[in-house]
Amino acid sequence: MSSRIFIKCEDAHVLSTRDQYKDLNPKERFRLNLHKSHCPGCRKFHKINDKFSSKMKSLKWVKLSDEQKKSIKERLKEHISN
Ligand SMILES: [Zn+2]
Repeated sequence: MSSRIFIKCEDAHVLSTRDQYKDLNPKERFRLNLHKSHCPGCRKFHKINDKFSSKMKSLKWVKLSDEQKKSIKERLKEHISN
């Protein structure tokens, strides 16, 4: 690895996902933001991730069975991958 500050897209995706759970330390957040600043693909990924998790959060307020939640999750996933 040439530098610890510059991360791969793969790592950025992991950090982006963990960011949805507010699980990043300042260093990791810095690396993610740095990566996003020069990688349009990961900026897009992060945006979609954001949308996805805010949708999931709003679902918490609705009474749904686990089965229904699962199917909604699957539908969201399909929507994102299209
Ligand atoms: Zn990237």
